[in-house]
Amino acid sequence: MNDLQRMLNDIEMEVNLTRHLIGKDALDDRVMAAIKQVPRHEFVPADFRFLAYDNGPAPIGSGQTISQPYIVALMSDLLNTKPGDTVLEIGTGSGYQAAVLSNLVKQVYSLEIIPELSEKARRRLKKLGYGNITVRTGDGHSGWPEYAPFDGIIVTAAAPYIPPALIDQLRPGARLVIPVGLPYSYQELMVLEKKASGETETRTILGVSFVPLTGGDDEETNASAALNSGHR
Ligand code: SAH
Repeated sequence: MNDLQRMLNDIEMEVNLTRHLIGKDALDDRVMAAIKQVPRHEFVPADFRFLAYDNGPAPIGSGQTISQPYIVALMSDLLNTKPGDTVLEIGTGSGYQAAVLSNLVKQVYSLEIIPELSEKARRRLKKLGYGNITVRTGDGHSGWPEYAPFDGIIVTAAAPYIPPALIDQLRPGARLVIPVGLPYSYQELMVLEKKASGETETRTILGVSFVPLTGGDDEETNASAALNSGHR
């Protein structure tokens, strides 16, 4: 069995183990096909290539990580995308999640707060030929008003609360998938759905562990994030 197939099997196994939490035995076939198309080893630094197809996170520099494949698959599934959608990602990191989403939707906009990571991800995605992903350096707390409203928003860093601008930038009927909780503490993966009426409904899926969403005006989160990621 090749490495990619092993990773897909590991994702399926973990989906099955968590079926009572996520409410299904298997993820959408479209999502699994989208994961299968992305060469994850291209998104992991050379020193950690041996981890590229493990079902776990890996360091990508600047104190950040590429998320666990099961979590990428689960969040992509929870976003409930359609081929014509335009989606926003907060936390480009390596660009891997953006690449997976680009196989599911028409256009991906992705914001990354660390300039070196956003520059590296942009170059990488271009080299690999992803033509429908736009990466920009910026603070995801404000979303990306120029291209709003979005058919889905995915946040790949944990926030103590859901940034209100992101809810504003959701199209009615669209979902926001975000880990909510304190930095390096207990966090829950949440799905917020904006109803046609404009009202929102949230549900909690399962416990997760993400790097913190920095920026905004939350001094405590920023101080803790800087301390833990080893740069300030
Ligand atoms: N989705 C990424 C993994 C992200 S790790 C991947 O597939 O590789 C979380 C990322 O969020 C980090 O790169 C971090 O720098 C970024 N981040 C943290 N706070 C942010 C903010 N306020 N706005 C945009 N990006 C942010």
